[in-house]
Amino acid sequence: MTHPIKTATALLALTAGPALAANCLEITITGVQGGPPVFAGQAGSGTLVTYGTEENACRDVLMQFDTGRGTTQQLSKIGVPVARLSAVFLTHMHSDHVEGLVDLSQLRWHFNSTGPKLPLICAEDTDSPAGHTMSCVNFATHIGDALINSGEMAQRLAENADRLPGGPADLLDVATFSASDTAGPVWTSGDVTVTAAFSRHVAGHASYRVDTPAGSVVIGGDAGNDTPQPPRDSSTSAQVEALAEGADVIVHSTIHPVMGSDGTTGFPPAIYHRQSTAEDLGAMAQRTGASHLMLTHLIPPVGAARQGIYPLPAPLTAADYATAATDGGYTGTVVVGADLATLRLVAE
Ligand SMILES: [Zn+2]
Ligand SMILES: [Zn+2]
Repeated sequence: MTHPIKTATALLALTAGPALAANCLEITITGVQGGPPVFAGQAGSGTLVTYGTEENACRDVLMQFDTGRGTTQQLSKIGVPVARLSAVFLTHMHSDHVEGLVDLSQLRWHFNSTGPKLPLICAEDTDSPAGHTMSCVNFATHIGDALINSGEMAQRLAENADRLPGGPADLLDVATFSASDTAGPVWTSGDVTVTAAFSRHVAGHASYRVDTPAGSVVIGGDAGNDTPQPPRDSSTSAQVEALAEGADVIVHSTIHPVMGSDGTTGFPPAIYHRQSTAEDLGAMAQRTGASHLMLTHLIPPVGAARQGIYPLPAPLTAADYATAATDGGYTGTVVVGADLATLRLVAE
């Protein structure tokens, strides 16, 4: 007769124990700077997307999208050693999105040469109508060249033969995708799937979508409209909009209309028109049903008197960006990016 009671007690103990930790998706702007200028120590463009459980701070799978200036330092501020990154994804070869990969991969080579290689996912070589080729493969192949040529790498190898002989290029496991690959996943890990779409900005520009059981996020990068200048319906990308359909979060580079050709800044119109404006991004996020729009790569930076060499009529506030997005008709939550701005989605 005692057995059923014991069983009931055991069941009670089980149900009273800690609940299973919920799955979560976390998005951190590692760098909010837009374009090559420097301002107030802001880090270069990048977004860390991580997935896991609340128990491990959503850190089973760690994906870094773009690696602008200072990415390594930014990751160190939030307790992410470069050895913990599961993969790096690049939207395009503009320096402000990739230059931080040089020291990131060098650091991982220095201390973690015997660990797993770092997958680098990016577009295949793409020719521009202007005659040049944008090549992620060449960037990765030559990532350690300056330090190889200075003798630094040989010196480090002489003191530790366990390091990979070819320098950090040996550590990067480059996986490129073509237009035909973008119908399916370009990278997966467990429950996480990353898909990509080519989008317009410069040759070889791609945007990404991450799907997880805790939610989904689109990383638009610097995408703009296929029609390079007005008249057109929007400055945003139709490819990004298709990718973002039904996604919870859109993270996107942003330009404020103050930089436009009807302003007084003298900013080159062609560069203005190849970015998406905050207002048009608000309209796009409303159409795709995103609950959150994270604006990053802010041109101009909040509080700046100028964008690079181009003076502004007055510094912008974060509210100026948020208002522009809501003026576009967006009714969700706008997160105006700052270095290390973070958003967490938790599975219900
Ligand atoms: Zn950029
Ligand atoms: Zn760019």
